[in-house]
Amino acid sequence: MNIDLSNLKEPGSSKSIQERIKIPAFEFQKQEIETPYLFDLDLNIINTSDSFVLTGQLSGVLSLVCNRCLEKFEYELQVEIEEELLKEEVESIERINLIGILQENILLALPIKNLCSENCKGLCTVCGQNLNEEECNCERETIDPRLAILKDFYKKADHEG
Ligand SMILES: [Zn+2]
Ligand SMILES: [Zn+2]
Repeated sequence: MNIDLSNLKEPGSSKSIQERIKIPAFEFQKQEIETPYLFDLDLNIINTSDSFVLTGQLSGVLSLVCNRCLEKFEYELQVEIEEELLKEEVESIERINLIGILQENILLALPIKNLCSENCKGLCTVCGQNLNEEECNCERETIDPRLAILKDFYKKADHEG
């Protein structure tokens, strides 16, 4: 979504935007930032003499992948926006890339570590079982991974036989 600021030519003029907007999913450091729902945007834009200043709030929900268990989880987000666009750096005031600005602000508000919960137990390093859902029988600290495969094999054979 681009916004048109050409009607804000006079220094001191301002406008506000209150909208539910779609922010497309994007990628950051090989991490997919999914945006399953609309976001609430409440933004005020003012023309200072040499820049446009954007202030306001963006709130919504992201879908992120947990660093430990690799499951998706929803992350609620509220971002304070404070952005200054220098006029000399704005290519065209009829087409300000608002989505790009909002995506950058979302990145700044991301958690340092994506965890579905503080207590996420992650995956078993041997069999890959999601330990939040079920404990497995692996001896994770001591077992030789090759033995683990064998053990798994016998367990399966047991079930099938
Ligand atoms: Zn998790
Ligand atoms: Zn396991």
